[in-house]
Amino acid sequence: VEEKTSSGLSAIGSTGIDPETVRGNIENFIGTAQVPLGVAGPLLVNGDHARGIFYIPMATTEGALVRSYERGMAAISHSGGAQALVLEDENQTAPTFFFPTVREAREFALWLPEQQELLREECSASTRHGVLTSCRCHQVGRNVIANFGFGTGDAQGMNMIVRATDRLCRRACQEFGSGEFLLFSGMCSEKRASAFLMTRGKGKRATAGALLPNKVLRMVLHTTAEKLMQVWHSTVIGHLQAGAIGYNAHVANGLTAIFIATGQDVANVVNSSVAITSFDPCSEGLYVSVTLPALSIATVGGGTGLATQNEALAMLGCCGSGKATKLAEIITASVLAGEISMAAAIASHEFVAAHETYGRNRPKEAQDPPTK
Ligand code: NAP
Repeated sequence: VEEKTSSGLSAIGSTGIDPETVRGNIENFIGTAQVPLGVAGPLLVNGDHARGIFYIPMATTEGALVRSYERGMAAISHSGGAQALVLEDENQTAPTFFFPTVREAREFALWLPEQQELLREECSASTRHGVLTSCRCHQVGRNVIANFGFGTGDAQGMNMIVRATDRLCRRACQEFGSGEFLLFSGMCSEKRASAFLMTRGKGKRATAGALLPNKVLRMVLHTTAEKLMQVWHSTVIGHLQAGAIGYNAHVANGLTAIFIATGQDVANVVNSSVAITSFDPCSEGLYVSVTLPALSIATVGGGTGLATQNEALAMLGCCGSGKATKLAEIITASVLAGEISMAAAIASHEFVAAHETYGRNRPKEAQDPPTK
C-alpha cells in the first residue's frame, strides 16, 4: 500500500496486533488506527448490576471531551451516585415477505405470529444464546414486514439473529406454501435513527437518573438549577425546530468514545444515541435523567474480545458472559454525566473557554490568529 499510494505508513504498520487474532473482525488488515484512550471518573453507579465506583475508558480525538464527562461524573458522585437500570432488552430484525395479492399478504400476516412453536424451533436450531421473543407483522400493500424480537444474551447479536431470521423466513415460506422474502426491510433501524426506536426499542432500553443538590450545582458545575432549566427548555425548543428524533445534548460523544474503547460496533452509535435527556426542578436542586431506548452493546462477540478492547472492559469488570446488563448501566450513567456537564458549560458560559483550554489543535501556521 505504501508503494501504491506513495505514502509512509510506519505508524499504521507498527501494530502490536497479531493478524491471526483479528480474523472475523477485519479484511485486508494492514495495521491499526490508534486512537488516544483517556479515563474519566470516578463515577458512582447504583444500578441493578453495576454497583460502586467505576473508571470509564474513552477513546477519542476530541479535546475537552474526557474532561467534560469527568466533571459530570464528579457532580454525580458528589450527589450520591446515579441510579441506572435496563428496562427492556430485545434486539430486532424486520424482513419483508412478498405476496401476489393484498388478500394473501393479509392471510400471511395473520398466520405468521401464530406459528410461535415453529419459529422458536428454527431459532434454537441456529443459535444457543439467541431466543425469539416476539413476532409482529406490518402489512403494506402486498408486502408484509415481519418484526422479530430476540433476546441475544451478552452479544450485540446482529450476526446471531440475522442468521436465525434467515432460517425463520425460509421455513415460514415453506410452511405457508407461498411467498418470497428479503432479509432486510430497514424497519428495524439497525445503525439508523428513527421514531420507531423510541417506542419499539432495539437492544437495551436503559435509563439513568440522579438528584444534583444545589450545593453540587454551585461548587462542581458553577451554575444553578434555574440556569440549567433555562438551557434545557431553550434547547428543547431548538430540537423541535430542527425536527430532531429525541432530545439530548451529546449522547453520541460519550457513546462513541466508550464504544471505540470497549470494542462495540461504533456504527451502532446512530441508533444508540436516539435518546431523551430530562431535567426536572425540585426544591433540593435538579433531577437529571437520560433514557436510551436503543442501546446496542455487548460483552461477548464482535470486537469485545480483542486485546485492548478486552482490557477496557476489564477496567469496568465487564468481560464476557453475564456482564452486558452491567455494561449498559455503566454506559448510561456515563452518558448522563456528559449531558450534565455540557448543559452546565452552556449555562455558565464556560463552553468556549473549556474548548480553548483543552480542545484546540490549530495547525502551526494558524496557531496565532491575528489580533485586531
Ligand atoms: P458474533 O461475534 O458474530 O457472535 C457471538 C456469538 O457468541 C453468539 O452468536 C453466541 O453463539 C456466542 N456466545 C457465547 N456466549 C454468549 C453469551 N453469553 N451471550 C450471547 N452470545 C454468546 O457477535 P454477534 O453479537 O452475533 O454480532 C455482532 C457483530 O455483528 C458485530 O461485530 C457487528 O459488527 C456485526 N453486524 C452484523 C450484522 C449482520 O447483519 N450480520 C449487522 C450489523 C452488525 P450462539 O449464537 O451459538 O449462541
